Amino acid sequence: MARVELHDIDKSYGSFRAIEGLNLSIDDGSFTVFVGPSGCGKSTLLRMIAGLEKITAGNLKIDGQRMNDADPIERGVAMVFQNYALYPHMTVEQNIGFSLRMAGMGKADIDRSVAAAAATLQIEALLKRKPAQLSGGQRQRVAIGRAIVRNPAVFLFDEPLSNLDAELRVSMRVEIAKLHRRIGATMIYVTHDQTEAMTLADKIVVMRAGKIEQAGTPDALYADPDNFFVAGFIGSPRMNFLDGTLGADGVIKLDCGTVFTAGIVGQAKEMPVKVGIRPEHFSGQDEGDGAIDVKVEVVENLGGTRFIYGTLNSGQSVIVEDRSERALRPGETVSAGFPSRKTLLFSVDGMRIR
Ligand code: ATP
Repeated sequence: MARVELHDIDKSYGSFRAIEGLNLSIDDGSFTVFVGPSGCGKSTLLRMIAGLEKITAGNLKIDGQRMNDADPIERGVAMVFQNYALYPHMTVEQNIGFSLRMAGMGKADIDRSVAAAAATLQIEALLKRKPAQLSGGQRQRVAIGRAIVRNPAVFLFDEPLSNLDAELRVSMRVEIAKLHRRIGATMIYVTHDQTEAMTLADKIVVMRAGKIEQAGTPDALYADPDNFFVAGFIGSPRMNFLDGTLGADGVIKLDCGTVFTAGIVGQAKEMPVKVGIRPEHFSGQDEGDGAIDVKVEVVENLGGTRFIYGTLNSGQSVIVEDRSERALRPGETVSAGFPSRKTLLFSVDGMRIR
């Protein structure tokens, strides 16, 4: 197990700064997930920790030791790649044992390690097959097996589930969570899927354009985001941001006409704001101390719940979860109540007003 520390890390490709002065501390045995939109630098950061990418400036420490220039092997890390990176001509057994053979381990020990990894991942029956004879999910297990046998202090996962279909993604996600619980190693995981981040992480690191926007527990990021970007990135469907104004008396007026207070101290003069309300925080027709009128456009019925995709009379689009059994017909206008204490307030430039 190991603690990973990043101090003022910079990465430049020519004149382009992919990572800018990044600081992060990853606890021993924790599960940390890097999320963010495409190109924000998640993989670059992971690859620098792995030793696959040179660090331009700053310090990387693993268990207190500076590792900037250490070989990947010396770092005690193992990486699982999105495309599995299996050797096609080798059997599963040979693929999993490869790094141990390279390290000069004896056959009996290799066999024991491979058997233990295969048992952990429940792929014992596949050991004599070649990668081409495996499903995507089985290949991903073999790729994880290759990492496990090295008994690394830090596991690095680079979007390991993105080539799997939706159902398999969910079951592999659970497998990875179980694996973490069982072996307790530090795990760092890159994804752009916020559901994966929410369900796997002890700590989520939300990145944008080479910088950390916010890092914290899934619950903290969901309930208490620092800005618009994090609030919009965490949660599915995405949080609604409704235009309005915050008055000197702390009263919030939405452009669609709704008026409520949310325990915010008033400003010296009225200011434009964006009011964040998550779709799942609408509580029903007549519940809550706020309500908006929504013109229904599309109803997405998920069985246990429904999402209304609609518009407000201000013309803004809105997504509302509706758990009622009322009839919802496209074209009609319905009332959706919400508790004002669940709303979040942002300035128009995206910073949270607390
Ligand atoms: P994705 O989710 O699409 O994989 P990411 O967040 O992992 O994105 P990175 O792959 O880390 O993003 O890339 C970060 C930025 O650095 C991008 O703008 C990318 O174009 C740039 N970049 C990455 N590798 C190189 C390279 N070898 N040369 C030049 N620019 C690069």
